[in-house]
Amino acid sequence: MPARHRLGSLHLNLLTDGVFYQDAGAVFGIVPRVLWERIGVEMNARYQMAIGLNSLLVESQGKTVLIETGVGEKERPLGQTERPGGISLLEELAAVGVAPADVDIVVNTHLHADHCGWNTKKQADGTYTPTFANARYLIQRGEYDACMNPNERTRATYFAENVTPLADTGQLELLDGETRVTDEIIIIPTHGHTADHASVILSSGGETAIYIGDMIQHTVQLERPPWVSSFDIFPIEAMETKKAVVRKAVDEQQLVIAVHADFPGLGRMSESSDGKWKWTDVTPSG
Ligand SMILES: [Zn+2]
Repeated sequence: MPARHRLGSLHLNLLTDGVFYQDAGAVFGIVPRVLWERIGVEMNARYQMAIGLNSLLVESQGKTVLIETGVGEKERPLGQTERPGGISLLEELAAVGVAPADVDIVVNTHLHADHCGWNTKKQADGTYTPTFANARYLIQRGEYDACMNPNERTRATYFAENVTPLADTGQLELLDGETRVTDEIIIIPTHGHTADHASVILSSGGETAIYIGDMIQHTVQLERPPWVSSFDIFPIEAMETKKAVVRKAVDEQQLVIAVHADFPGLGRMSESSDGKWKWTDVTPSG
């Protein structure tokens, strides 16, 4: 079920593509198990933990903007995905009255397989076409290059079929760093998880939110900056980026939207008198 939250005059629609099962040891990276076990991580028999797949749909200045497209129907990430009631991002879009053809702009924070799966759909003849036929797809140029030229480390998660069909139809728009989408939505570079990972800032009526993409897979990683995951390609940069983002989120009381937190992934960061950061869930309202 979609969740709705008001940010100034913007209606934020949080949509789920299901839950994604990731190896818990990989999520917590260099952190010893004796430390992360204490925070109460639930694991299945394969030592995997469930993480969210929270996309964001927002109408801004006449544009219907979809941020992140989940796992989609690509075989391998789908094998790690659970969709209660068979509900995927497409059913969630329908539930808020949006058909794929209504989407004007798609934003991918990066191109790992659990973030851009519904960019494209497989046709009966085995070819892939854009799911959102009328949309411009906004992707950082460096991220696109990394996806199209994967290395031994990144090959398993970069699928050309999530991207090349967009280029074929002329719907792919490559960005060079900070980009204004509307007066209320700005894409900003947030290096670390990948070299050209991006986040999205939304502002309206004096309120600001940041959609942080894959900066974390568990909210404790926002509270403890050195807790970076094995999925971060540039761990030290990821830590520095996270520190800067959390500092700003605390100081400016930004709403934080985390794709991989439990649905709907809304929270705020606060700082205790002894300088410790804390995530608190925000219940969607308005
Ligand atoms: Zn991810």
